[in-house]
Amino acid sequence: MAVTDHVDLPTFMEGVKKRNAHQPEFVQAVQEVAEDIFDFMQDKEEYHAQQILRRIAEPDRVVSFRVCWEDDNGNVRVQRGWRVQNNNAIGPYKGGIRFHPSVTESVLKFLAFEQTFKNALTGLPMGGGKGGSNFNPKGKSVREIMRFCQSFMTELYRHIGADVDVPAGDIGVGAREIGFMFGQYKRITNNFTGVLTGKGLEWGGSLIRTEATGYGAVYFLANMLATKSEDLNGKTAVISGSGNVATHAAEKIVQLGGKVVTLSDSGGYIYDPDGINQEKIDWVKSHKTHRRGRIEEYVDAFPGASFHAGKTPWGVPCDVALPCATQNELLGDDARLLITNGCKAVSEGANMPTDLDGVHVFKAAKILYAPGKASNAGGVAVSGLEMSQNSERRSWKEEELQQMLKDIMLGIHKSCLAYGDQGGGYVDYVKGANIAGFKKVADAMLAFGVV
Ligand code: GLU
Repeated sequence: MAVTDHVDLPTFMEGVKKRNAHQPEFVQAVQEVAEDIFDFMQDKEEYHAQQILRRIAEPDRVVSFRVCWEDDNGNVRVQRGWRVQNNNAIGPYKGGIRFHPSVTESVLKFLAFEQTFKNALTGLPMGGGKGGSNFNPKGKSVREIMRFCQSFMTELYRHIGADVDVPAGDIGVGAREIGFMFGQYKRITNNFTGVLTGKGLEWGGSLIRTEATGYGAVYFLANMLATKSEDLNGKTAVISGSGNVATHAAEKIVQLGGKVVTLSDSGGYIYDPDGINQEKIDWVKSHKTHRRGRIEEYVDAFPGASFHAGKTPWGVPCDVALPCATQNELLGDDARLLITNGCKAVSEGANMPTDLDGVHVFKAAKILYAPGKASNAGGVAVSGLEMSQNSERRSWKEEELQQMLKDIMLGIHKSCLAYGDQGGGYVDYVKGANIAGFKKVADAMLAFGVV
């Protein structure tokens, strides 16, 4: 029997748009992957016949639930929570939890879809998932955050498990929130298992998990530069964001001899022409984590710097750029500006920070451009190592983990080269990451038949 259901890319995307109306972020993420995968699948009948991409772009399940909690004034508050379990072909669902007012089903579906490829790229046995809520932690007391986390877990616990689905942190969810959620999980189930990653070191967490995403993005950047016989020494870096990913990316750039001149948050960016050194990075870390302050206040502490309200940092001339804030923070015009100003390499610390227009600009300019699913995979990779340590009931040494993180980032770079080398000294890292991630998941799915 001949297979007749062979669609081309535009028809495929039309279907995705129709089935996911009003979910622009999800459609965008699928489009970015499908552009490369359709090329790759051209002569691979089985992927078409088994509708593999169509199946990866349809989450295994989306759980949506109500989260009620009481604020400090005794008001009853209602939020929406989700867990998107996208694909578990190569391991338990794995991916972070995001608490931010911008969270929607579309955002979490895009993140879970991206996570599926990212996790495959790490080489560790992890499927893709993502969860979160439109809860806004900004301005909430610690007790309010605790009550919210407990209420969120009171529903989530029945959908997760160490061999089922292992959430972690993301925007708005750090060690403190993971602690509150783990405490509630343990209380409900009476089970001390590695059901969450990003845990505290005293209760099953892993060394270097906190640093891993930012460090990994810089290792990947260094791997890309090395293909041009260059390194980070003396390079000027523009970084967006000022959270966990951005500050650790800055730290590693400085350690490797680079100069970081910007950081940002939703209020704007700071430009420090003297360079943001380790002392200043430590100040930002404690300002953002302990004092929950704004980046704007950096200029009071370090008067050589300037604050640019309501702006992103992409107009600041640089050699390398690391978008480490959030999705769609770097648009086509920003990409053009970066290139005009001489930027040679972009390594994404955030998930899908560059919009489709920007991706096409970077590809056309043939600069070194790493998509988040490759360059920010260090975080989830060390989460995977945390899962292994939990299963073994032991903790590995810092040096061992540092080396494993470097090796994993090098391995991802190698996979990108294997499928993205276009000849003439140009590597399409987007294509390489998409195909390498897809192939691993797709081949596992083929083995399972139509399920
Ligand atoms: N939220 C992070 C990411 O986007 C980490 C996920 C994890 O550690 O499971 O990859």
